[in-house]
Order: sequence, then C-alpha cells, then structure tokens
Amino acid sequence: MLSVVGIGPGSLDLMTERARARILRADVIMGNVRYIELIKDVIPASAEVVIGRMGTEVERAKKAVELGQYKDVVLVSGGDAGIYGMAGLAIEVAADSDTKLEIVPGITAASASAALLGAPISNDFAVVSLSDLLVPWSEIERKLEGLAQMDIAVVVYNPKSKNRTVQLEKTCGIFMQFRDRKTIVGIVRNAEREGCEIEITRLEDLPAFYRRIDMSTTIIIGCSGTKILGGRMVTRRGYETKYDYETGNGNADDIAAGYVEAGNRVWEKSKAIVRDIVSKYPGSLSDIEKRVAGRVVFANADPSFLDLLVFNHHPVETGIRCIKKGKTIITDIEMVKAGISKKYRKNVQCFVNAPNAMEIAKREGLTRTAAGIRLAKELIPSNVVVIGNAPSACQEICALVEEGDVKPALIVATPVGFVNAAEMKEKILSMDNIPCIVIRGPRGGTPSAVAIINELVELGNR
Ligand code: SAH
Repeated sequence: MLSVVGIGPGSLDLMTERARARILRADVIMGNVRYIELIKDVIPASAEVVIGRMGTEVERAKKAVELGQYKDVVLVSGGDAGIYGMAGLAIEVAADSDTKLEIVPGITAASASAALLGAPISNDFAVVSLSDLLVPWSEIERKLEGLAQMDIAVVVYNPKSKNRTVQLEKTCGIFMQFRDRKTIVGIVRNAEREGCEIEITRLEDLPAFYRRIDMSTTIIIGCSGTKILGGRMVTRRGYETKYDYETGNGNADDIAAGYVEAGNRVWEKSKAIVRDIVSKYPGSLSDIEKRVAGRVVFANADPSFLDLLVFNHHPVETGIRCIKKGKTIITDIEMVKAGISKKYRKNVQCFVNAPNAMEIAKREGLTRTAAGIRLAKELIPSNVVVIGNAPSACQEICALVEEGDVKPALIVATPVGFVNAAEMKEKILSMDNIPCIVIRGPRGGTPSAVAIINELVELGNR
C-alpha cells in the first residue's frame, strides 16, 4: 500500500490524525530532507527512511510505487500532497501497477498562512505557483495577468528561490499594473515552523520585502474587499452589508433584496420555459397576443390554455392603449382587483360590495356580481371590463351592450364554472365589434383574468 501523505505546514499538531496513523504504521517513509526533518518525532524506529533530493521526484515516486506492492510505504509532501505535491505524480506513475494507492490530505500553506494573517481568503480566491521549472514562464505570466484583473485574492506559492528571483518582481509589476497600489498584501515565511515571520503590507511596498522572501514563503495579495482590522488581514465576504454586528440582526432591506433576487431568478426561468412553449404553439397569434397567452399559461402552469384563449378584434392593442391612457378597469369581484398590479390598481374599481349592490340584486333578481356590473353602467363606456369569476356578470355586461348605450373598450372574460360560464363566454365572443379576450369553456378564473390584465399593464408601460 502506498499512502501519499500531506503532513501540513510544519507544526505536528497541524498534521491530521490520519496522516499520523499512516506514518506510525509505515515500513518505509520517503520524502525530501526538509519534510523528514519536520516529522522526525513521529517516525517509528522500525521504519526505513528514504531521503530524496529535489529534482529526483519521479525516481522517488517510482520507487515508492514499487515498494508499495508488498510494504506500507508513506510518501510525504509538505502541506497537502495534492497541491503542488507528490499526489499527482504518484497517480501517474502508479497507473499501470497494482499497488494500492491512497492520498491523505493536509493543511496547505494557503490555509496555514491565511490563518496567521487573519482571514484573507474568506471570499473567492486563486492560487498560483511562480515556479517555472515545470511550467513555462509565459504561461504563468498569462495566468497572472488574468488573475490580476479579477477582483479576488491571489495566493502565491513558490515566489522565489536562490536561482529564481525575477519572477516575483515581474508578478509584482503585473499586479501594480491592474490593481490599486494600496492593495493589502500578506507575507508569511515559515508558517507553523521555526522562524515564522508574518508581515502585512501594501502592494506598492512589496519590493521592500523581496530580500526576505524565499522558498518557504507564501504571499497573499488581497483584493478590493481586503482590509486590515485589528491588525489582521481580512477579506470581507459581505456580512457587513447584510448584518448589524451590534445586534447580530440581518439588515432587513438587504435580505429582502436577496429574496427578491432569488424570486426573480425563478420568475425568469419560468418565463423562459413558457416562452418556449408558446413559441411552439401552432396557432396564429401575434407577438403581443403570445405575451398575454404566455402569461396565462404561466399563471396556471398549464399549456392547454393556449387552445382555449380567443383574441377577438385586436384586443391586446386596444388593451395597451387603454392602459397607456389610464382607463378604468371594472372587475366583477374584489379578488380580481386585488390581483392587479399595484402600479395600476388605483384605476381599478369593483362595485360588488357597493352599499346598494345587495338591494339592486334583490330587487332585480340578479346576483350581487351582476348588480355590481349594473352599478358600473355609467363608467363602462370606453373603459375595460374584467370578469374573472362570475358567469352572471358576463350575462349582465352582454345585456348592457345589447341595450345599446354601453360599449366597453375591451372585455376580458374568464369566468369559471360548469353552470353558464361556457355559454356566457360564447355570447361575448359573438358580439360585434367589441374587442375581447376570452377563455372558452368552463375553465378560467381569477388567476387567468389577473394574468391577462397584468400583462397588458406591463405591455402598456414599456
Ligand atoms: N504541498 C504544499 C505546497 C508545495 S509548493 C502545500 O500544500 O502547502 C511549496 C511552496 O509552498 C513554498 O514555496 C511556499 O510558497 C509554500 N509553503 C509551503 N509550506 C510553507 C510554510 N510552512 N510557510 C509558508 N509557505 C509555505
């Protein structure tokens, strides 16, 4: 069995239990001299220790895979073995062997250094290595240019070695080009090891630290959200805009805005689905009729309404004109009124609860909704009548029109029910020269009426 083990940044109490357990049971432990030195107190006396040099990693990995066939072998990496460590190489080398292989994660330099600095990578961040031993510098430079232009924290590994010194200067130059010179930068040398040094500075002052930066140093370049608070480097995640730290309560407006945004996303997604359904409908609807039809499909989550909707005498154009002119909308019931968009509701009237509606209903043998329509008689000419619920209200508007002196600009009729609804709606459709939007048959109801009017309101406010 071969275990590729990340031993953490240095301090043994930051090594995971699993890493420790693998080391304690190992027959063979392989790693470079620095890491072996760091874990010497954990290495069992019985284990064979194989120290490798830098630059002999492939050889070491091959050897580890070979020994792993019949021994418990631990190949150690600093920090996390999968982050610029030996894990990838071990997998490549072991691909064709039958050695059992496991990767044991560890605390990487970015986490260890970040914790010592404060919390500089608490929002989105990127990690980049300046080592061009395996990756061409031009490629690294391209990544740096991209990252420098993004407003995120960037963690720099392998900033400088004895032979590689210009890469850090070039990196600083690239960031100076794209980021504020005052951007906060954290420098951690020997995190969680002997000789640990922590510095918080500004991008423009980074050159002053070049001399002290080496292969055991991690640099964290902050972003616009990075601040110094209580001597620590912290990249704010946005809590400060949402919460009042004194009370711990959320800022209601901002939280509500978050909900609104989430709601909008659902709304947009649903609308796209509906647009798709409507665009595939074979009937011949104009673009604005499709918008209204789509709104009804959306409100009911039911595409079959496309087969029931009838647009007579260019009702959508008429409706839009009425909205633009601020014409009155008369509804059969309060519930329809309540559903109409707030921005237009002041122009909506419903007489079903008017003081004399009951009296008229009794006297004339009408339903109360029909009486409400009769009460609106003076108001109806050149305004909009919406009947979302009561077939008897449909009957009344037809009677008023037939009497001759009442001509609404538009009728929206979607009453629902098994008694008389379908018939009354057919009657409205049969009236000459009255623009109307009707849902045929017994189906319909308040949601459909409201959907039609609200789409007209939206179209009228474009
Ligand atoms: N696998 C390692 C990274 C190896 S690359 C990990 O996950 O941490 C080596 C680079 O990591 C160093 O050049 C340095 O930039 C960083 N590094 C590793 N250990 C560090 C430590 N204790 N303190 C600061 N930086 C460290």
